[in-house]
Amino acid sequence: MKPMLPFTRPTIDEETLQEVLEVLRSGWLASGPKVKAFEAALSDYFGGRPVRTQTSATASLEHALLLCGIGAGDEVIVPAMSFVATANVVARVGARPVFVDVQLDSRNIDLDQVEAAITPRTRAILPVHFAGLPVDVDRLYAIAERHRLRVIEDAAQAIGSSCRGRRIGSFGDLVCFSFHPNKNITCIEGGAVVGGSPEEVRELELHRFHGQVKSGPDEVDTLFAGGKANLSDVAACIGLGQLKRLEEFTTRRRALAARYFERWAQDPPLRLPARGEEGHNWHMLTALLPLERLRLTRRQFIEAMAERGIGVGVHYPAMHLFSAYRAMGYHEGQFPNAERIGRETVTLPLFPAMELADVDRVVEAVTDILRGTTR
Ligand SMILES: *Cc1c(COP(=O)(O)O)cnc(C)c1O
Repeated sequence: MKPMLPFTRPTIDEETLQEVLEVLRSGWLASGPKVKAFEAALSDYFGGRPVRTQTSATASLEHALLLCGIGAGDEVIVPAMSFVATANVVARVGARPVFVDVQLDSRNIDLDQVEAAITPRTRAILPVHFAGLPVDVDRLYAIAERHRLRVIEDAAQAIGSSCRGRRIGSFGDLVCFSFHPNKNITCIEGGAVVGGSPEEVRELELHRFHGQVKSGPDEVDTLFAGGKANLSDVAACIGLGQLKRLEEFTTRRRALAARYFERWAQDPPLRLPARGEEGHNWHMLTALLPLERLRLTRRQFIEAMAERGIGVGVHYPAMHLFSAYRAMGYHEGQFPNAERIGRETVTLPLFPAMELADVDRVVEAVTDILRGTTR
């Protein structure tokens, strides 16, 4: 039997491993020179904009919301289809996530429905560039400007993506990235906020480290009850090694995605996602199973793929149907596209260490499993 092909796997090179050992031997493990260097390299990558790292994108998004002064009594517009952190962060700062449906094939927030969801309590829009496919940022920012709203981009999946030639993160209000191992580059666990005024950047530093300011070797003050979300130098060192390879990884992901589309150019057995423009970083390849035509459940499909040694993910259940959000009054039937995606979606393997032959293997397995199971 062939080796197991997971749906994703990080690529860490030997050089990075050696550098990690050096950091470990240096005696400086928490935030230090490597964090500074990682932030400087990221800032460079994003056209000189300020960058502050956190221990996760969840922390980055939460701090971005706090920076905007968003809390109890406020509303933030979020897509109904995303990883649950997108809505959780809004709830955690005490505000209400106001869900808006997504487009079926892009999985991105339906901008036609955003304005109808704006109320006098709305403070921000929190869009997700799903799977790295950029939201139409021109339209998004026009809506935000018209209604004087902040924009916090959940770009957790979008490093390496660009929209009409402009890199996601190199413009816009506050843009949050993730370096979780499943993302396009990793530092084990980590995140970053790109953007913000000098005062806001200062505030980000306070949020991630106890609200403390040092004014001398023996003097420290705490301005507010800040949290603890500073990155370690070990993590930052891995991030530096990964950032160097981002372009190569992205090119590889695009070639693998192109192979899926090429192999399924005619009558694909499942519904492929929107391809978007060239700026897509192909963080994931998600597709919809035509369940109403199949004599097979999604679970049976995933198990059949696993029997052939192929890992399949599910990204994601619709957020408003989780207990936490049902408790806020959300229910079935409100966001039909998000709900359908939640029921039918499967994530097929796509990561830089894959070969084109691995794509072929997945395509053949899917075709084989779905053939003869249609009603
Ligand atoms: C991964 C992810 C997050 C959370 O990132 P962490 O670094 O794991 O906290 C948030 N939003 C989206 C869309 C994600 O994919």
